[in-house]
Amino acid sequence: MTTDTPITELHGVGESLAKKLAILRIKNIDDLIRALPRKYQDYSKVIAIRHIRPGVVTIEAKISQTTGRYVRRGMHITEATASDDSGSVRLVWFNQPYRAAALKSGENYYVSGEFVFKSRRLSIINPSVELKSDFPINTARIIPIYRETKGLKSFQIRRLVRQVSDFTKKMPESLPKWLVKKQKLMPLAEAILQMHFPDSSTKLADAQKRLGFEEVFELTLASLLNKHELHQNKSFKIRFNEKLAKKFVSQLPYKLTDTQRKAIWQAYLDMRKNWPMNRLIEGDVGSGKTVVAAMVALMVINAGYQVVFMAPTELLANQHAETIHNMLKPMGLADKLTLLTGSLSTAQKKRVYTSISTGKVQFIIGTHALIQEKVDMHKLGLVIIDEQHRFGVEQRKELLKKAGHAPHVLSLTATPIPRSLALTLFGEMDISIVDTKPVGRKPIATKICSPNSRPQLYKNISQQLGSGRQMFVVCPAITESEFLPINSAEDVYKKLSTGPFKAWRVGLLHGKMKSSEKDKKMKDFINRQLDILVTTTVIEVGVDVPNACIMLVENAERFGLAQLHQLRGRVGRSEHQGYCYLMMGDSSAPSLRLRALENSNDGFKLAEMDLEIRGPGALYGTMQHGVLDLRVAKLTDVKLIAEARAEAQNFIDRGEDLLQYDHLAKRVNALRAVTNLN
Ligand code: ADP
Ligand code: MG
Repeated sequence: MTTDTPITELHGVGESLAKKLAILRIKNIDDLIRALPRKYQDYSKVIAIRHIRPGVVTIEAKISQTTGRYVRRGMHITEATASDDSGSVRLVWFNQPYRAAALKSGENYYVSGEFVFKSRRLSIINPSVELKSDFPINTARIIPIYRETKGLKSFQIRRLVRQVSDFTKKMPESLPKWLVKKQKLMPLAEAILQMHFPDSSTKLADAQKRLGFEEVFELTLASLLNKHELHQNKSFKIRFNEKLAKKFVSQLPYKLTDTQRKAIWQAYLDMRKNWPMNRLIEGDVGSGKTVVAAMVALMVINAGYQVVFMAPTELLANQHAETIHNMLKPMGLADKLTLLTGSLSTAQKKRVYTSISTGKVQFIIGTHALIQEKVDMHKLGLVIIDEQHRFGVEQRKELLKKAGHAPHVLSLTATPIPRSLALTLFGEMDISIVDTKPVGRKPIATKICSPNSRPQLYKNISQQLGSGRQMFVVCPAITESEFLPINSAEDVYKKLSTGPFKAWRVGLLHGKMKSSEKDKKMKDFINRQLDILVTTTVIEVGVDVPNACIMLVENAERFGLAQLHQLRGRVGRSEHQGYCYLMMGDSSAPSLRLRALENSNDGFKLAEMDLEIRGPGALYGTMQHGVLDLRVAKLTDVKLIAEARAEAQNFIDRGEDLLQYDHLAKRVNALRAVTNLN
């Protein structure tokens, strides 16, 4: 047998078990060894029966008086007595009739399970039992809990891992020897074994540290190598034209903030280097990233190249086109702009394609329609990806392929990730943080509301509508569902427009509507033909209506922290005070999440909190980076991350040859394929 040996060669693995293992992506011995536990149950403390208290316990005992019987149809009970020098205790198993025959009197057993009061007596219910003379894997130690699937439980996986545990000992070290020594890491073979069957919590912690370090090291190495490769590409050098920049800034209706100017300047510097720019602009919602992108694009157009600006929704693409049109008009560049979205007619599209391929237009704003094959770029110099976390890696790659060479890339994101994390996750990008809010912006007043406060709330809102403001009402779903007690958009629209807000003009906008209809509703709202827009999370991304400064979120408890923060960002965009009312579905106590929103307007702080409450999975979810998921490393472990990153740089500085390290090379190359945008 080798690590490549199929799992079916193992003792006790038939076709049906193999199928279940395949669901967990376990096909051979190597997969099995590397299927690390999700968590652990600590059964390691063996106590005297006399000291048993309700809760999880482990004892060492002899077992006697085993009996089994059916108490009623379909209900079998096995009972036994476990005794040690200090006393005895009752063991009970439900529906495990095979137990009785398996227990031998006179032998020493470990028994682990929960000691509870049941059927008027205290007993250990459904305990795991193992001979002390065996290598125990279910009792008397820290027990691994694996990812399970229907009909495949952790104890079965433990048994299989036990069968192949000798293989772990032979696993070759995957990290360079000097690194293992320098960082005092547990060797791979030992770490894997300790992850499955830890000898102690200290050993487990060391094993986790070792594997977590390796994950971050691999990830950073991959992005550093990508960056290195990117730097081998030739770029179009974009000359900086000061007069043009000054003219653009002077026609803006506001003054750029310091962080906006810094981000623009950093991008200008990037585009003068010998290699293409790959910069991420990270800024909270409403921090003004669009104008940064537009001003960067300006220089590229001036240099005679094309710019593509890709947005995740049509709504947003339309809005960007309008905003940027207004910025380019005073510059005499308005006719250089075109919009390309899926809802253009075939004839319109054809015209746009032609003007793109001939180079007549230079600034192309659109949705993923831009990725379609028919679009032939003339001289693509810059790709801007708005809300980049909403695009899959594949979509971004497709777009870049159209260039036929490596264009400059500017990505915008409102996922405010703490800088240290951003550097690890997006290691191959340079990062600008736009975090000073435009002057005069007031924090959004956020309030959690219980349903019985509705009448008073509606009164307050009516007053604000009366002074000319507008309101978004955001619902968690479009249509009513008989299974979920939620306020759907259609429902709320009906209720509000015929009830409390009868006197106002109420509109409905959601993702299932035709795009022309959506557009019209949005325009009506922007042009103040509507006072209230009932909608769903379609408006989460980017939409800008400065006069709408009230937001009412229905069933706020159904939304995530980051999502609510993004939503709320829609109403903090003008000199008017913004209000966000988080309406609860019922009067139960609000979650930590909602409380956090009430107390803070700082996206970076909230992101960190989200990370604490929900774990890094939350971040990965929105970023669609499933492949990059860290299995062991905790993104909150700042020290480990910093050390692993420094060592990845060190690895490159030493001129190490990756190919010398088989496993490392495999992992790093797989990661590079995912994160590499070129
Ligand atoms: P986001 O970063 O969420 O994409 P936007 O670019 O949509 O934010 O900008 C939000 C609003 O802020 C827009 O109405 C924009 O005109 C305005 N804005 C941008 N920069 C400034 C500034 N420096 N001062 C005042 N308002 C600004
Ligand atoms: Mg935006």
